[in-house]
Amino acid sequence: MLTSNLSHHRTWKRIGLTWLFFLALLITYWLRLDAFHQNEINEVEQNAKLRASQTAHALSMQARSQLLSIKFVLEHLAEHWFEQDKTMFTQLIKLTKQGVLKNSLDLILVRDAEGRVLFNSHTPLEQPIPKLSKAERDHFQQLTQKNQPIFSISEPIHNEITQRWTIQFNHRLEVNGQFAGTITASVPGEYLADAFRQIYPTKDDVVMLTLNNGQYLARTYKLEESLHNKIPTEIEFIQRPDKSNGNYTAIAPLDGVERIYAWHRLPDFPIVLNLGLGKEKVLSPVLLSIQQSRIQNLIGSILLLLAALWITRLVCLQSQQNNSLLQAQERIAALLNRISFGVLIEDENNFIITANEALCSLLNLDAEPSHLTGLHHSQFLSALKQEQKLWLQMSPNTIEKRKLAEVEDSAGHIFEIDWVPIQRGHSYLGHVWFIQNISSRKQKEQELFTLATTDTLTGLHNRRSFLDILHQQIKLSQSHAPGALLMIDIDHFKQVNDTYGHPTGDRVIQHVTRAIHDSLRHDDFSGRLGGEEFAALLPKVNLQQALQLAERIRERIATTPTVTEVATIYVTISIGVVLLYGQDETRVREQADKALYQAKNSGRNRVCSAEEMTINMPDV
Ligand code: GH3
Ligand code: MG
Ligand code: MG
Repeated sequence: MLTSNLSHHRTWKRIGLTWLFFLALLITYWLRLDAFHQNEINEVEQNAKLRASQTAHALSMQARSQLLSIKFVLEHLAEHWFEQDKTMFTQLIKLTKQGVLKNSLDLILVRDAEGRVLFNSHTPLEQPIPKLSKAERDHFQQLTQKNQPIFSISEPIHNEITQRWTIQFNHRLEVNGQFAGTITASVPGEYLADAFRQIYPTKDDVVMLTLNNGQYLARTYKLEESLHNKIPTEIEFIQRPDKSNGNYTAIAPLDGVERIYAWHRLPDFPIVLNLGLGKEKVLSPVLLSIQQSRIQNLIGSILLLLAALWITRLVCLQSQQNNSLLQAQERIAALLNRISFGVLIEDENNFIITANEALCSLLNLDAEPSHLTGLHHSQFLSALKQEQKLWLQMSPNTIEKRKLAEVEDSAGHIFEIDWVPIQRGHSYLGHVWFIQNISSRKQKEQELFTLATTDTLTGLHNRRSFLDILHQQIKLSQSHAPGALLMIDIDHFKQVNDTYGHPTGDRVIQHVTRAIHDSLRHDDFSGRLGGEEFAALLPKVNLQQALQLAERIRERIATTPTVTEVATIYVTISIGVVLLYGQDETRVREQADKALYQAKNSGRNRVCSAEEMTINMPDV
């Protein structure tokens, strides 16, 4: 039981360790998979940044060329303002509206050095002149300074008349190097945004134009909301005026969309172009592929776990079966080691499955039974003495029949070798050798046999044993020397008992026995059939020889007395003789009795033959 429990415990330990290893592998795999997915995302993000950066650069060039056009138009108009004939000036405005700044020019304004509007492309001159708004005033003030740039761009201004948000591009007017007013082109934010909206029409991606301080000038999505707003100041291009371009990722407060941004400053203008690519849109293909990969890997992992669980179940079942098998084997081994005869179980290929301690001790093997397990029968034989090898020799082609043999070793011990095949239906599964020392059993059997066949008073064959021998000898008898049966009875024996007592009678019986026995040949048999009746069997004699021997016995008894303490006792016997050949047992016995009867009736102390019914008279 100990071995089987130990093996069971070991199996569980192995299963536990294998599971730990397996789970560690699975976790490592998933961590690596996650890292790989993160790399993929990073790579896509990097690519998006690069793409955004390149596109932002191209768009900034496009925006710059738009602004340069506006600047060029204003310079041109400024040159013609001071001409006396304003026909050329108005003609130029008309041409500009139809050509270079088609659909983009909201208003052209000219102010004098005090900020009074001298020309308004919308308003007839006789109408009241609107005052400068605060923002307009700031830009106007900028241009009055001599050391300041002669061109400026305003923050978006809401025009009360047109109800539109516009950006004002202002150019300084000079007369003889002195500030003489400004000329302003109002361009709707919509116009600037439109050019980019054609490239990025959806709300995922956004293109924005801002001043260096983050003030929106144009935005492809949520333009209206943006124009009176600024980009948060923590954004890089506001913080780092020394840098011309860069990247950042942010969630726009305006629309709550997270984007990957690239920004580029427009050369010659205090303007920054921002391009934001919707992060979700950028990452959605890779996120989708990652999701699919995760699902596939999850299914794979679940299948692996199920397979591992199934294998564990099989291993557990196997272990339980092995355990039961081991327990059964241990029980059998315990049983085998408690029985007195040797047991050797071998499989169908003659390999030893198990042996017991009694086998090793009976064969005087210096080995533990467990050491024999797995040996081939021939290897096992090689460890035995020569005589033992013969006992356990396999006889081929008779494997289906049980074999039982008795063998004797050089020391006179008798062994019973029993070979029993193990069969299931018609299949032969192996066999068992049983080896038993039966010396003492044999001795007891012999003693019992002797007791059963011997007469205790005389030591001769008893009645049953003698009749068995007679039965055999009748069968063996032949015509030329048929053999003979002598029936012997002591004459007047009652008188001996009556005169000297029963014990003395016994002494006389023993005396007569010795006389009969001593007279017989070596091959003859003698028995006591009852009381004071004897019989002798003389194989291979003829009638004459039988009669002679009978006579010799009769004479010997008649002349040799039984000497006891109380008396010397003479007795005589009568003998009936019959030949064995050609008769059945009953007939032989009848004939013998008849001859004996004849001898008694004829006066006793004589021999009578059934064949001749002749009477051999004693010499008187
Ligand atoms: P017969 O000449 O006619 O044979 O006369 P007998 O007296 O011998 O008569 P029988 O053969 O009938 O008598 C046998 C006697 O043998 C009877 C019995 O008392 C005696 N007897 C039988 N068995 C034993 C025995 O074992 N021991 C002794 N002492 N006497 C025995
Ligand atoms: Mg008698
Ligand atoms: Mg008698």
